[in-house]
Amino acid sequence: MTTKVPTKIHTLGFPRMGEHRALKFALENHWRGDSSAAELETTGAALRERHWAVQRDAGLDYVTVGDFAYYDHVANHIQLLGCEPARFGFEGTEPELARYFAMARGVHAGHDHGADCGCTTAAATTPGQPALEMTKWFDTNYHYLVPEFSATTRFRVASERLFDEVTQARLAGHPVKAVLLGPLSFLWLGKAADIDRLALLDQLLPVYESILTRLKALGADWVQIDEPILGLDLPDAWRHAFAPAYWQLARSGAQLLLASYFSPLQDNLRLACQLPVTGLHVDAVRAPEELVGVTDWLPAHKVLSVGVVDGRNIWRTDLDAALARLRPVVAKHQGPLWLAPSCSLLHVPYSLGADSTPATQDPEVNTWLAGAVEKLAELRTLQAALDGQNADVAWADNRAACRSRRTSPRVHRADVALRLARATADDDRRTTPFPQRQAQQSLHLKLPLLPTTTIGSFPQTSAIRAARAAFKRGTLDAAHYRAQMEAEITHAVRQQEALGLDVLVHGEAERNDMVEYFGEQLDGFAFTANGWVQSYGSRCVKPPILFGDVARPAPMTVDWTVYAQSLTTRPMKGMLTGPITILQWSFVRDDQPRSTTAQQIAWAIRDEVHDLERAGIRLVQIDEPALREGLPLRRAGWAAYLDWATRAFRTTASGVADSTQIHTHMCYAEFNDILPEIAAMDADVITIETSRSGMELLQGFGDFAYPNSIGPGVYDIHSPRVPTVDAMVALLRKAASVVPVERLWINPDCGLKTRGWSETQAALGNMVQAARQLREELAEA
Ligand code: GLN
Ligand code: ZN
Repeated sequence: MTTKVPTKIHTLGFPRMGEHRALKFALENHWRGDSSAAELETTGAALRERHWAVQRDAGLDYVTVGDFAYYDHVANHIQLLGCEPARFGFEGTEPELARYFAMARGVHAGHDHGADCGCTTAAATTPGQPALEMTKWFDTNYHYLVPEFSATTRFRVASERLFDEVTQARLAGHPVKAVLLGPLSFLWLGKAADIDRLALLDQLLPVYESILTRLKALGADWVQIDEPILGLDLPDAWRHAFAPAYWQLARSGAQLLLASYFSPLQDNLRLACQLPVTGLHVDAVRAPEELVGVTDWLPAHKVLSVGVVDGRNIWRTDLDAALARLRPVVAKHQGPLWLAPSCSLLHVPYSLGADSTPATQDPEVNTWLAGAVEKLAELRTLQAALDGQNADVAWADNRAACRSRRTSPRVHRADVALRLARATADDDRRTTPFPQRQAQQSLHLKLPLLPTTTIGSFPQTSAIRAARAAFKRGTLDAAHYRAQMEAEITHAVRQQEALGLDVLVHGEAERNDMVEYFGEQLDGFAFTANGWVQSYGSRCVKPPILFGDVARPAPMTVDWTVYAQSLTTRPMKGMLTGPITILQWSFVRDDQPRSTTAQQIAWAIRDEVHDLERAGIRLVQIDEPALREGLPLRRAGWAAYLDWATRAFRTTASGVADSTQIHTHMCYAEFNDILPEIAAMDADVITIETSRSGMELLQGFGDFAYPNSIGPGVYDIHSPRVPTVDAMVALLRKAASVVPVERLWINPDCGLKTRGWSETQAALGNMVQAARQLREELAEA
């Protein structure tokens, strides 16, 4: 063998919140006005310092600088590149951090720029401005702030933050790899009303070039430049823009590591390999099959960074498998080899290691998990193996953990496998088509034209949250907890009766979260004590860990629903979360296809539907707000995904009698591009979020001639505003022009758990009134 350069290890990014979510608390303190910007910056600097030390101690060859952000890394770039939208009316004299939070969180009319703004002008005259729009970062559950461009956008280097951070790391003695979002991805992720974003590239590139020049001068050895859009189906104009852009950036003389992740490169593979950069990072977890192609096309002298450790999931890496994947790469690629997580570790918890408090209450599961800190250690072990150093202890430990996970009877259950194997083609089909079901259902349910209902949850008051917390802590016993929840259910039912709603719900008081509630009662799920990941800003979520075959040991919602039904003669709608939403909002297994996991959940939920039906519940809603989020980044994968996802939904919903009415609910997205698949779910009624777009979405349902019933949300529950009767009547008339009234329902946009009771009563009262008015109009016509 030739003498090889030693393998290097690095990370694309590190969780910025800190081990105990220090950043979250510091931010919220600052926003409340309890700490100054300087105090917040001190916390930020300390967190960076700490995270770099963790990277150094893990043996990484470089620390990553530029992944830190007080809200979002894309927002950092908006300031770095000097393109704060003009609509905020910044004069430039406001402190940078105050402008940052104004963009991230919006400005209320007559409000100042924040506790520590430093404005001396009459702040009370500030006009209100909504925050930058927030949207999902590729297919993750992280949300970024959307840059806004226009024909008048001008770029310049406008923030010292990144440079200061590089200096901070250099002063602490670290070898530095700075990280930037690449110019093409930055433009792609933004939005522009009046201009083609790509037209801004020429103007943007010199700014990037000077940033790179400065980073190099400050002592950054490398700049990782992220172009995750290389994993998307790009228009030709965008693809063709890469080469000239990177030729221009190469003039800076900085060593660039071009990073792509989340999705296969496919038609962009050659392009990525041939760009004039010093190295390329590829995601070998999402696209292991491309490694061969990359080693074929990447010039021999370039650095190849292989993302072998899953940056998106919480499982320990099977190091033997990873090594097997790396061996051919080592044999073939003559240039330097680096190892890294597949993407930034932003998407996994800080640590799930054995040293701190146990990750979950399940000691067996704990041995299978790896958070960010543990993933860095895995890189080190792999590096040692490749370079022929001894890592026997770590290796043996890893092997034992992987073997235990592979063979655990809690992961692989014969009864679950058998059930899936026995499923027949009929199991995901209702026995009769919708029109006949509809006739049966109206016979049994006796609902008026344009029935009114809600989406499930009613206000989660502090009393409700306190009771749940006390029950969980053990300071409230089961009997008292039950009594209190029943009182809440009674309250919700009485309110709905008084309002005159047609189909009632129990109100979901007992649910902390629509996924966690079910996960906690199903076999196959574990919950971490501290496994937080950033969702947006200071907001973190703690996704359940779906580790094994899913089964339902006992009914989960039947008691509460039956209790609610016992209080009223009006029909009570059972309320469940669907398999795809449970899948999407959890960390899921990587040892079987997602489709199999979805099907297992589907069977468990199907049992619940069945039990509700047997207990006399005639309507069951199965929420799938996350259906669209599961779409693969590349269009070629859509059909297969939608096929198994809609099948999973139908599996939950198809075991019932014709007279039982299945509802589903979706929100947070546009659906017009997947309407045939939504129709293929064959729910009797779908309630969807439409009010904010003025029923625009509904037009799509009309054009497509959606065959079943629809409840377009007639008011936006995300705002405390109480819509007037007239406003809702107007929306309903619009809806009635698109959907035949026999198939139209009336309901809010989404659940009401974030609202207070007074606005809820007022809004629902108006909604019922609007329904009556429209019924009268129709009767007269
Ligand atoms: N049934 C849930 C609720 O009402 C639905 C929430 C959602 O769609 N996100 O809260
Ligand atoms: Zn919703």
